Amino acid sequence: MSFASLGLIDQITRTLASLSYTTPTAVQAQAIPAVLAGRDVMAAAQTGTGKTAGFALPLLQRLVMDGVQVASNSARSLILVPTRELAEQVHESVRAYGAGLPLRTMVAYGGVSINPQMMRLRKGVDVLVATPGRLLDLQRQNAVRFDQVQTLVLDEADRMLDLGFSRDIDNLLALLPRRRQTLLFSATFSDPIRALATKLLVDPVSIEATPRNTTVKAIRQWIVPVDKKRKPDLFLHLLKRHGWPQVLAFVKTRKGVDQLVDLLDAKGIAADSIHGDKPQPARLRALDRFKAGEVRVLVATDVAARGLDIEELPVVVNVDLPIVAEDYVHRTGRTGRAGASGDAVSLVCADEVQQLAAIEALTQQALQRQEEAGFEPEHRVPQTNAAGQVVKKPKKPKKPKGTDRDAPVVQEDVRFRR
Ligand code: AMP
Repeated sequence: MSFASLGLIDQITRTLASLSYTTPTAVQAQAIPAVLAGRDVMAAAQTGTGKTAGFALPLLQRLVMDGVQVASNSARSLILVPTRELAEQVHESVRAYGAGLPLRTMVAYGGVSINPQMMRLRKGVDVLVATPGRLLDLQRQNAVRFDQVQTLVLDEADRMLDLGFSRDIDNLLALLPRRRQTLLFSATFSDPIRALATKLLVDPVSIEATPRNTTVKAIRQWIVPVDKKRKPDLFLHLLKRHGWPQVLAFVKTRKGVDQLVDLLDAKGIAADSIHGDKPQPARLRALDRFKAGEVRVLVATDVAARGLDIEELPVVVNVDLPIVAEDYVHRTGRTGRAGASGDAVSLVCADEVQQLAAIEALTQQALQRQEEAGFEPEHRVPQTNAAGQVVKKPKKPKKPKGTDRDAPVVQEDVRFRR
């Protein structure tokens, strides 16, 4: 199947050829004709399988073919994303896919000066990629109006609709024309979010390019049980033992991120970080240095879990498991992209067994356990089963008094009790 056969115009197919995109991916093959036909779409497809082009290519084509002039301080389409880094990346993709088309595009996110964004909006833009908070700020300052918006895209849609963003999104939706095209894309959709999402859509085309909430097969995944306090040492040990050229490491807290970077620095390993307390230019610089190979370990909170496309990233390490199971799918999906393979290793301590169970239930797999010699935990990580349930240890039968002085001591129990 070719891109042209999906109905894309020559200018766009030529651009795709120059990017060496020869064949549409599964989500692209299904989404492109539906979006071109003006339909609402809800699309679930695994991480790294080309969702961005799935919505961006037909969106760009529709904007060109409609030939409408954009008014000043207006936007004709909105692509909303949850993080600033992702906003940059999606905008870069939109620019690349739209090369040679007579369309104005721009990106707007918080943490940087609003004035240049306001200036750029004066002439109006055809595609505005934005994070919700900054977009609302711009609207409140009359820098942008939405009456010309014909298409709204929510990338990482389940994240955009969950609690953290729902207020901003509700406020934005109230400002948009009711007659519009709405496109929702993500690698994960929980059932409640799916139900909520369908309320935004009119007669949608539902696309499931792969089974729901699944991780990519080409990503080898395993967990290493370990005591909490030994995680940093285990991380260093694994880095050395496997000789990983580059690693994206996820840590639960901002403080934990800084501590791991300090430790890596002290060991002479080039490391940098991304988290919410860092100024935006420093966040982007860290990502750029990592992409350029100047940094061996990028340590991040979940702000880097979604969407980021880092070419040939070989390994993701969850130093801490994510609180929300869906984020596991997104984190691991930073590797194994565009058909490549990758490793995803999680360092799991006893406290995290419920999170582990939730991840296994969501992804419908039992993650393989691989203990590291010298790092066997004192606090055992309870077993989980394939359904993602914590397996309760059977209670020991009560001893009949004074009869079994010689009963064997089970090694695991001793460790568990300590
Ligand atoms: P995305 O899931 O949109 O972040 O895309 C993942 C990666 O796949 C990116 O590096 C894209 O450049 C690449 N990609 C997307 N679509 C195609 C395609 N049809 N052929 C080859 N590479 C693609």
